[in-house]
Amino acid sequence: MALNNKILIVEDEEHIRKFVRINLERNGFIVLEAETGEKGIYITRTESIDVVVLDIMLPGIDGFEVCKILREEFPKLGIIMLTAKSQDIDKIMGLEYGTDDYMVKPFNPMELVLRVKSLIRRMELTTSEELDIIAYPPFKIDAYSRKFYREHKEIELTPTEYSIIKLFLKNPGKAFNRDEILNLVWGYDFVGDSKIVDVNIRRLRSKIEEDPSNPYYIETVWGVGYRWRDEE
Ligand code: CA
Repeated sequence: MALNNKILIVEDEEHIRKFVRINLERNGFIVLEAETGEKGIYITRTESIDVVVLDIMLPGIDGFEVCKILREEFPKLGIIMLTAKSQDIDKIMGLEYGTDDYMVKPFNPMELVLRVKSLIRRMELTTSEELDIIAYPPFKIDAYSRKFYREHKEIELTPTEYSIIKLFLKNPGKAFNRDEILNLVWGYDFVGDSKIVDVNIRRLRSKIEEDPSNPYYIETVWGVGYRWRDEE
């Protein structure tokens, strides 16, 4: 893992910011803090932040609004939401926010560190032994620049969407169940809700499919999960 990844924690409760900071710093991360959403947006715009840990309940604009604004401006930013209530989870899972992961309060700070590490792994440049270009016409991944294209037009993906697409394009025709996708994309430590897989697939379909409700490339394998179409 590269050192010096910058993490921003947006949370109005000081003691939570502090214990998150201590645990992340112990693991080599640079941590910035914001106690409001407005300040969080400002810091993200002015510093090169890799991952934002974003609380939902904030004074002023709430975490949902912050997430929407950041996602629109920074499609490749990593976003982990902190949520207090189970009803928030359904909202976080909604298509419009594009969060990469979430944690329910109260949480173990070591688990948050694992989630951040897993997300950073998803965002890191591909190692040199991997293929630089993975092509599946009309799509293409340039693993070196972490860009995804349809024909020659870039489709901007979140770190999580990019990881899923890479998994699919490297394994066309292979059916993955939701747990496999969770393990391969979010990391083996992830004990989460496989609904987050479905939401990311839906977002991907809306970005790449001509008719997202009748997908051609990302096939649903009933009772199993998903598969990238194999044209052979
Ligand atoms: Ca809060």
